[in-house]
Amino acid sequence: MTKIEMKTPLVEMDGDEMTRIIWQLIKERLICPYVDLKTEYFDLGLANRDATDDAITIESAEATRRLGVAVKCATITPNAARVEEYGLKQMWKSPNGTIRAMLDGTVFRAPILVKGIDPVVSCWKEPITIARHAYGDVYKNAEMIVPGAGKVELVYTAADGTETRELVHEFANAGVVQGMHNLDASIESFARSCFNYALDTKQDVWFSTKDTISKKYDHRFKDIFAEVFEADYAKAFEEAGIEYFYTLIDDAVARVVKARGGFIWACKNYDGDVMSDMVSSAFGSLAMMTSVLVSPTGVYEYEAAHGTVQRHYYKHLAGEVTSTNSVATIFAWTGALRKRGELDELPDLVCFADRLEKATLSTIEAGEMTGDLARITTLENPCTLSTEEFIDAVASRL
Ligand code: NAP
Ligand code: MG
Repeated sequence: MTKIEMKTPLVEMDGDEMTRIIWQLIKERLICPYVDLKTEYFDLGLANRDATDDAITIESAEATRRLGVAVKCATITPNAARVEEYGLKQMWKSPNGTIRAMLDGTVFRAPILVKGIDPVVSCWKEPITIARHAYGDVYKNAEMIVPGAGKVELVYTAADGTETRELVHEFANAGVVQGMHNLDASIESFARSCFNYALDTKQDVWFSTKDTISKKYDHRFKDIFAEVFEADYAKAFEEAGIEYFYTLIDDAVARVVKARGGFIWACKNYDGDVMSDMVSSAFGSLAMMTSVLVSPTGVYEYEAAHGTVQRHYYKHLAGEVTSTNSVATIFAWTGALRKRGELDELPDLVCFADRLEKATLSTIEAGEMTGDLARITTLENPCTLSTEEFIDAVASRL
């Protein structure tokens, strides 16, 4: 067949360990036979990040700003053990953190539903997408142990030197105290990312905080969301037949557990951290989860939600057969190809992405899957495939 042509290249961010092997297999067996794949390639493997003093990560984020759509392989975030293992010049920062800071985005994570892997919550029929604000609050806090009696105050010193004070607590005895912050600009970009993503995927947005208790801090989030919505999105939402809905976090939790799914749940940083683990485990598996970073300017970076699957990689290096699930990485590629196809008006590319996803899901539904899913499926007599066999099974269906 004639290969599907692309117009604009994707930004391709290669990565580490088991996911780097899967990356190559996906390109070679699932994409390149059908698509004349155009990418700007950045090797974010740890060895190359070290060799380039991490400049490669920054270049890949700059290319993403320029080209608009990226696909990223899982990468190692070095710790002390990795510094030794790879003989690194220094403990480089998390590439995801660097890229996120440069693109100023919100991360959307949604489970991939498939027959035979049932959610623990039986009424969930459609995915629940968590949109997590990735800046500030408790993740950029200042905290203190209060050793004994004394007064704790918040002090704001304006540029002209004037001070505004707010009493936190008059301590009679020892205790603890914490200060945290957020920025109007960051909250606004969080809101825009959520509303843009909702329009893109035709889903309602739920946003929840605890503004009844946090009358200034959480209330600021609620107000900014409402202002941005009214000013720039209300009309588009109405036309798209979707809704924006604000409620208290405890009410949201109660509603989510009774819901059907099919909506975006926008969460403050801490709430998103906790709730995304709850939602993903209740839906089945981290390897069955899509993840995309969306910037307020409409730049997209697709990735898998899991890591480099180090334990499997060492088995692979020792010559053992592995059974690593490639679904999230396949969906990172299809997400990016589909988005590129939409932006460049290439219906064949969009259609290819749909078919590759369909082939992947129908392989699992036919009982052919990797070990992680075989252990939890409700299908009878599932066939456990190796990493490579699973990709080949998808290829033959495709
Ligand atoms: P991980 O790679 O997510 O794997 C943790 C465990 O989860 C695996 O050992 C495996 O369990 C299971 N698992 C995860 N993905 C799987 C898949 N696709 N198929 C089958 N099983 C899967 O987390 P980690 O081992 O803690 O981290 C390894 C490296 O990844 C670290 O260096 C970390 O920095 C990096 N990381 C990167 C990203 C990213 O780039 N987005 C995210 C998280 C972590 P069993 O061993 O029981 O089979
Ligand atoms: Mg967490």
